[in-house]
Amino acid sequence: MAPSLRGPQIRGSRNDDPKLARKLLPCQARKNLIALDNTKIIELLRTTATLLTLHDANPFQIKHYLNAALFLEKLNQEVMSLNPEELSHLPGISQGLIALIEELSTTKTLPRLQELQAETPAGVWDMLDVPGLGPKKVRALWKELGIQNLAELKEACQSGQVEKLPGFGKKTQETILNNLSEQAQYQQLVHYATALQCATLLEAACKKEFPSFMMTLVGEMRRKVEVISNIQLLVASTEVLPIMNWLSSYPLIRQEKSISGPFAWRGHWVDNPLAIQVLFCKPDDFYQQLVMQTGSPQHLVLALPSGQVLGEVVTQANGVTSEADIYQAANLPSIPPELREGLVEQTWIAAGAPPLVELADLQGVLHVHTTYSDGRNSLEDMVTSCQNLGYSYIGITDHSQTAAYAGGLRPHTVHEQHQHIDQLNQQLAPFKIFKGIESDILPDGNLDYPDEMLAQFDFIISSIHSGLNMSQSEATERLIKAISNPFTTILGHPTGRLLLKRKGYLIDHQAVIDACAAHGVVMEMNANPWRLDMDWRWVPYALQKGVKLSINPDAHSQREFANILYGVEVGRKGGLTKGHTFNAFSRTEMEAYLQTRKARALPY
Ligand SMILES: [Zn+2]
Ligand SMILES: [Zn+2]
Repeated sequence: MAPSLRGPQIRGSRNDDPKLARKLLPCQARKNLIALDNTKIIELLRTTATLLTLHDANPFQIKHYLNAALFLEKLNQEVMSLNPEELSHLPGISQGLIALIEELSTTKTLPRLQELQAETPAGVWDMLDVPGLGPKKVRALWKELGIQNLAELKEACQSGQVEKLPGFGKKTQETILNNLSEQAQYQQLVHYATALQCATLLEAACKKEFPSFMMTLVGEMRRKVEVISNIQLLVASTEVLPIMNWLSSYPLIRQEKSISGPFAWRGHWVDNPLAIQVLFCKPDDFYQQLVMQTGSPQHLVLALPSGQVLGEVVTQANGVTSEADIYQAANLPSIPPELREGLVEQTWIAAGAPPLVELADLQGVLHVHTTYSDGRNSLEDMVTSCQNLGYSYIGITDHSQTAAYAGGLRPHTVHEQHQHIDQLNQQLAPFKIFKGIESDILPDGNLDYPDEMLAQFDFIISSIHSGLNMSQSEATERLIKAISNPFTTILGHPTGRLLLKRKGYLIDHQAVIDACAAHGVVMEMNANPWRLDMDWRWVPYALQKGVKLSINPDAHSQREFANILYGVEVGRKGGLTKGHTFNAFSRTEMEAYLQTRKARALPY
């Protein structure tokens, strides 16, 4: 059955990043347009707890908000859809949370949060965005050194004042300085998943208001770039003024008149750094503009056998009625928008322009956490969600014992979980739950657990989660050792990067991919929008080496199954096809593959 209901969700990460929370705060404008769902309420509660910590509030008060957030994270219904009677009957709900929900229903925000926001200087708030600076450290910088913004923080680090603060030291000071410079590069960017939510709102509102105009998202959004600097919407119309006026009154965006003009409305989103460009063209020019505004500059200078570059053909293709016509005029197949980066097109064309992988090609989901480790939903709930989405199998991969911070499974818990899975498999057949584990790759490259234990799993995702400070050669060696372990089925998030937060450790991609090819190990395309790791730019090399990719949501909650979409999109950017996608295997193919693979790992 084709998977259904897989819309994008903004929450793609378990992290409690205040930067993300801030982007989701309900300013007056958003308040009226975006319904309060559990995700947004959790962000509000967590932000309140962060600010309470910053203001050194009573720990019980902080716990009150954190517990409320935890409760909602495990709830399977939208809390705002419940009436007071239903609310009070939710098992385990506290009076405190009921009161908070009532506050949210009437005011659409949390009054305590608003008070805290008013008491927090904007620059101090910015410091919470610096990686490694939690609310307690920010408080110390603010109250002890009087630092009120990032520029003052940088100065204080450079003059050596920060290292003298209790609990800081020279190393922390250096890290803060490095993180500040890294952060400056990230400031104008947002994750694709966040941008998609904004872009979809704007496009839908604009289409509703002007239903007869042709319009579509172009640029980075249409190419599905992993981090976005601006949302571009192309609109074909003979009348520009009504839409210009409408845009200027649309409450989620602000115009910047100095950079707008007669053919472009330019501005920015109200509460994140996204730039917005609405580009106007005549209806007759729409398809030419669509190609020009979608492709990266490198795509538009693709060299053609005729001696021209693609951009020249586009400008000459007057009167066309589709993008396909333009590519045909250039003697090219219709290049999917995701590929138009000037990097992978030629390889894809040389391979015969195969159809790229689609969401509906995926038959199962292989990287899923449950409450056995650090997931938010139970094994049953994760399995049910996966079934309801139309998949025919799931691979449960909680953390292994070394990841104690993430509730990694001790051997007796693994045993318990396996019995639980056996029982569910009997009930749910033919749906299949595979017994997996996300095994930490230890600093020496070995996997967690002894071989006898590893042999009890159907498959193993091997990932690095700690000891990230490594040289390129150390990281590469550590990965290759894990890849060469016969129990490794999939190499998880190969670089450990967190987009716009942390660069991954450096690895020799070519050597790692070669090792995967040599040992028959699948590579993960981790679909969490903060990771999207491995980087899609390495997909063509993996395909060339015959390495399959598994598009894995790394779901820690039911809603994070929606991450899969982002993995499909970046996979497409690298030219990934259904045939090269591991979890496009049918259930029986996957069963057979895992059995054969495991048989090879066993010593008898
Ligand atoms: Zn992981
Ligand atoms: Zn994971």
